[in-house]
Amino acid sequence: MKIRQYVLLLSFSFILAFTSHGQVTPFEKDTDQTATYAETIAFYQGLAKKYPQWFKLTATGDTDAGVPLHVGVLSFDNTFSPELARQKKKLVFFVNNAIHPGEPEGVDATMMLIRDFLIRPEKRDILKNTVLVFIPFYNIDGGWNRGRISRINQNGPAAYGFRGNAKNLDLNRDFIKADSKNARTFNQVYARWLPHIFMDNHTSNGADYQYTMTLIATQKDKLNQHLSEYLQTTLMPKLKTEMKFRTWDLSPYVNFEEKVEGGLMAFPDLPRYSSGYAALHNAIGFIPETHMLKPFPMRVRATYDLMESMLKITNADHQKILEAYAKAVKDVETKTQFDLSWKLDMSRKDSISFKGFESGYKPSEVSGLPRLYYDRSKPYERIIPYYPHYIATQSITKPKYYVVPKAYEAVIERLQWNGVKMTPLAKDTLLEAEYYIIADYKSSPTPYEGHHLNRDVKLEVKSFKRKYYKGDFLIPTSQPAARYIIETLEPQAPDSFFAWNFFDGVLNQKEYFSAYVFEDAAAELLKKNPELKKKLEEKRAAEPAFAASASAQLDFVYRNSEYYEPSHKLYPVARIMK
Ligand SMILES: [Zn+2]
Repeated sequence: MKIRQYVLLLSFSFILAFTSHGQVTPFEKDTDQTATYAETIAFYQGLAKKYPQWFKLTATGDTDAGVPLHVGVLSFDNTFSPELARQKKKLVFFVNNAIHPGEPEGVDATMMLIRDFLIRPEKRDILKNTVLVFIPFYNIDGGWNRGRISRINQNGPAAYGFRGNAKNLDLNRDFIKADSKNARTFNQVYARWLPHIFMDNHTSNGADYQYTMTLIATQKDKLNQHLSEYLQTTLMPKLKTEMKFRTWDLSPYVNFEEKVEGGLMAFPDLPRYSSGYAALHNAIGFIPETHMLKPFPMRVRATYDLMESMLKITNADHQKILEAYAKAVKDVETKTQFDLSWKLDMSRKDSISFKGFESGYKPSEVSGLPRLYYDRSKPYERIIPYYPHYIATQSITKPKYYVVPKAYEAVIERLQWNGVKMTPLAKDTLLEAEYYIIADYKSSPTPYEGHHLNRDVKLEVKSFKRKYYKGDFLIPTSQPAARYIIETLEPQAPDSFFAWNFFDGVLNQKEYFSAYVFEDAAAELLKKNPELKKKLEEKRAAEPAFAASASAQLDFVYRNSEYYEPSHKLYPVARIMK
């Protein structure tokens, strides 16, 4: 580690000398500092002014901070629009920084990386086939909430922003529900560029171990198979080699149950998280997680090296990646079966070599009870179990079209921000389609990121005709955004709009009956409908509590009659199968 720090110091002094005539970041002036939001934007504005032919910084869309979100684009052959990038078959590499402003390595590393590309021509070869698009500072208001204590376990920098934004939302849970204006703008910027590779820079909490850099890649079984194959067989091995060459060992994100030695488990990156969101748009996503206990300068350098290594590899492989991307798009446009949720497969185990520290328990000075500690004087390298496999737990047959009533404006907007193609119905239409009845569900009793999430959704499927109105939206599923459409519109998917409460209105009954009035009508109904009478008697015989409740029996008759409202628990999105 000491040698590494020495190399680090050398490389920084080199940069300082080199950039004495150029722009120097606050971090390079004092390696215990991370740039503020204002310093970051001013730095890029300086670069954009000095190198307008290669670098553009655009203020795009709203944020909760009330100032626009900035997006930087670096291209050495004048490819500054997504249309041009697609036309010229460029690889689009997208980086996001400061989603958690207390984890700021990406902010400083990206500033240096962009500057270095601009002032050092010999580095530019690795951007030959690539357009580098990045968000310099995503959670702006979180960044303004700057202090030195919110990440109590972290080893620097001296001051940094806060995880929550001004509404105390965690933006790395907001990619689907998009409660923040930041996420709305992000959805739109992302869907315009449709990157092939996406990277969202973070710092990790958790166990102590020897690695400075750990990495979450989009979970391989959730990622489209063509992209997944390239990720596993080519990109990851090359990345490990390239990082090793730059003196960094790379570990999968250290996600474990009780002890690291019990095995690492791949992280289930649901679409609410950045890399899971990227997978819905057919991109390979990465969440680098530097280790909080390593000195800040090392973490910044590792982040710089990881981004540069990834750019180098993906630029060289750009043709392969574009082919895999094209296959993935064709695949989601044409296939009929889609998985919706996954769980870790503990029955299949791989193993990895892991560089950890011996750990143990000793009496706590606080509670007197046993406490965990890591012994850094006892590093080890050991083979430990690794559980990288997930299996699908739910899948569906995709409809040809969904129809979403225009009344669900928040849903329509989100689909549109994500580039989903749709057509309004030209006139009122009676649609023969498949419909879901929400037969059962649970809601979380305490709020999570502003919502009481619905989960464990059980559905009944019924086919009938239902009226839709002029202006309701017909959404074909044969389009590149098919996965985004399906995983947000299928109510049983863990991050669907139903899960995030956009359809909760249908869960309550709107009309009811007065028992003393309905008694007579119910008696009449049972006379006319011997089938229903039989069902009632059977239920009474089988369930003593039911037999003892007059209101439950009356309700049973009501729910099985024509008086019961058809919209109760009817999921209002039609699935047109042919
Ligand atoms: Zn984070």
